[in-house]
Amino acid sequence: LNISILKETRPDEKRVAMAPSVVPRLARLGATLSLQAGAGQAATFADAAYPGVTIVADPKALVADADIVLGVQPPPIEVVRAMKPGAVLISFLYAASAPDLVEALRQRQVTAFAMEQVPRISRAQAMDALSSQAALAGYYAPMLGAVHMPRILPMMTTAVGSLRAAKVLVMGLGVAGLSALATAHRLGAITEGYDVRPETKEQAQSLGAKFVDTGVDARGEGGYARELTADEKERVQKAIGQHIAEADMIITTASVPGKPAPRLISAAQVAAMKPGSVIIDLGAESGGNCEGTEPGRTVVVGPATIVGPLNVPSALAQHASELYAKNILNLIELMVKDGALSLDFTDEVLAKTAAVRAEAPTTATAGDSIE
Ligand code: NAD
Repeated sequence: LNISILKETRPDEKRVAMAPSVVPRLARLGATLSLQAGAGQAATFADAAYPGVTIVADPKALVADADIVLGVQPPPIEVVRAMKPGAVLISFLYAASAPDLVEALRQRQVTAFAMEQVPRISRAQAMDALSSQAALAGYYAPMLGAVHMPRILPMMTTAVGSLRAAKVLVMGLGVAGLSALATAHRLGAITEGYDVRPETKEQAQSLGAKFVDTGVDARGEGGYARELTADEKERVQKAIGQHIAEADMIITTASVPGKPAPRLISAAQVAAMKPGSVIIDLGAESGGNCEGTEPGRTVVVGPATIVGPLNVPSALAQHASELYAKNILNLIELMVKDGALSLDFTDEVLAKTAAVRAEAPTTATAGDSIE
């Protein structure tokens, strides 16, 4: 079983799909590993840190003999074209927005597992890269906010008097939002959280935060939120407005599957914020939760600084890669039997994660199916 690890090509991507600490566990499955030279460098893992792994300079040569190819971001098309027919690709894929890549995978008879498609079920938690990476992004957000603030987060008593603790409001309490609440609390801020799924109330409170109850229940399918109606949006705006105006830092993380990020903060609300306040918009990747967010940039808008960071997990590349590598290992364990690749699509996790499925070589019918 040959497993090859690609070096990422996107300029802002520092992560690598496999960490040295996870290599021995893959080897125990019977795998022989190859790494593209320098693949782990940006995540602090030198080639020499990968025990017993063959280093290959050319990505096409690297994948030519691989049964499984690992990446973080979708790989370049020319690399897919160099893969062995019948091989497996595991990476984030975003198939809907990459038709050319999907076509190349089909033509090459490659089965592609998209890490963003791992189902959100208990059994798949150990493979859930969206969660592992969101937990890190959420952790990082309050610190990113802190360095953009002209004030401190905790209460501090000095010889000349006391400084009041900052108020941090987190909007959207999924994996990232709850992690952000936890960090902000640890840093000494007074924390508040808001979401449209009522079950997040208890979760926020367990992290020492106050829950801003808007009275809206927008639970959707599979534990996700649905889009709000116009009436619900108005009710939320009424309930949340004062909290936005009183916040020193706001972290927004709201998303609705398959839709652009919902708009949670209007330009008028930004204009009414406290001088020196900061918004960290983790929704920037999908357009932003805040009016005025410029994805990938930090802008000052009236009293507030709006930060629209992209690929936040990459800023924590060492730990992000370690968690991602473990997610990948757990997924690979489902597809290897007696040291060889064995894809059982009656397994719900494999079936749902496969974005492109190559037909078995013995099947006479031409073509592949895409889920
Ligand atoms: P996400 O990134 O899709 O969205 C972030 C949050 O934004 C969600 O909590 C959502 O409710 C919220 N949101 C959407 N519209 C909003 C609005 N208008 N105002 C305020 N908030 C809004 O979420 P996620 O972190 O991927 O988690 C989504 C769900 O999946 C959660 O229920 C989570 O507990 C669940 N989950 C389950 C598993 C598992 O069982 N394996 C793993 C991870 C997450």
